[in-house]
Amino acid sequence: MLLVEPSYEIQDDLDRMPLPQALEARGRICYKSEERIGAGTAEPFLSRIAASGHGSVLEMGVVTAEISCSAEDKAALFAGQPRFLMVDETEAGLLITASVRAPREAASNAVVAALAHALAEKYPFLFAGVSLPETALFQPRFLSVDEVDALPQALLLRHRFLGVKFAVSRAVSHELVRHRVCSFLQESQRYCNYGQARFGQHVAFVRPVFYAEDSPEFTCWKKSMEEAEAAYLRLLATSSPQAARTVLPNSCKTEIIVYCNLAEWRHIFKLRTTSAAEPSMREVMLPLAADFKARYPFI
Ligand SMILES: Cc1cc2nc3c(=O)[nH]c(=O)nc-3n(C[C@H](O)[C@H](O)[C@H](O)COP(=O)(O)OP(=O)(O)OC[C@H]3O[C@@H](n4cnc5c(N)ncnc54)[C@H](O)[C@@H]3O)c2cc1C
Repeated sequence: MLLVEPSYEIQDDLDRMPLPQALEARGRICYKSEERIGAGTAEPFLSRIAASGHGSVLEMGVVTAEISCSAEDKAALFAGQPRFLMVDETEAGLLITASVRAPREAASNAVVAALAHALAEKYPFLFAGVSLPETALFQPRFLSVDEVDALPQALLLRHRFLGVKFAVSRAVSHELVRHRVCSFLQESQRYCNYGQARFGQHVAFVRPVFYAEDSPEFTCWKKSMEEAEAAYLRLLATSSPQAARTVLPNSCKTEIIVYCNLAEWRHIFKLRTTSAAEPSMREVMLPLAADFKARYPFI
């Protein structure tokens, strides 16, 4: 049995990488296969992912673009109530932030189609099998992350997306995924087989914030985890990880990436740092909120 501390990592560097590399780096958390990342691995990985319908991976990176279009096209975009796109009107026209998934699945509007076109030109494999109009009516101008960071605060809140990778208990991850506005990717207990050598043939558990290590409660908790691990490993001898995981408890360590804009992070911090929040959640959210505040003081 492995006993681990809860932790988090702000993945700012990934959003400064080309989109396919960011998507692959985040997507591999599900299988814990990050060691397979190398030159040329993103395309086959993401092509398989897209074909399999594992759509959340394609939400794990965004682009921000300025698009200058006619008033009619703007009206048509807003009339269609675009979901999963951040759209604002600016002097340059429209400011749009979107993951790859949104334009892949909703390119019927001319503005979204122009975005899809421009992305498909850069990364054709991300749009394989997606039908797009032959020509785009508008040419988006993509903004760098630094340009997004320089936007006025109201736009920055909506258009700056940040991913955080947490290593927390399954109990905490279950609370995190209630924040519906975010995108998530999580280590899969269906695909990860903790009986394998690459996991050290151990199940990892997060030290509970509630019990001091020398307390009788901690001893009771630890014994229970050891029994659960032993049952899991025994079941793996004759069944699959997805069957054996049925004995794994809330304290199991999981890795989960939460990806959303600054406005949603502000909302999460508001709910998850107060004294009403669950202590294991506060344990990671309090220092994380402080890290965000150091970068973005208005959060
Ligand atoms: C202290 C605490 C105790 C809790 N206890 C429980 C519990 O006992 N049982 C339980 O099931 N959950 C519980 N929750 C979870 C809670 O109800 C929310 O599901 C969770 O905090 C996600 O936050 P959210 O709903 O504000 O929105 P998010 O999903 O983060 O969405 C952000 C915002 O978008 C808007 N929004 C998103 N979806 C909708 C929608 N469908 N309709 C209207 N507006 C929407 C809202 O303005 C929302 O604030 C608890 C949360 C906290 C912080």
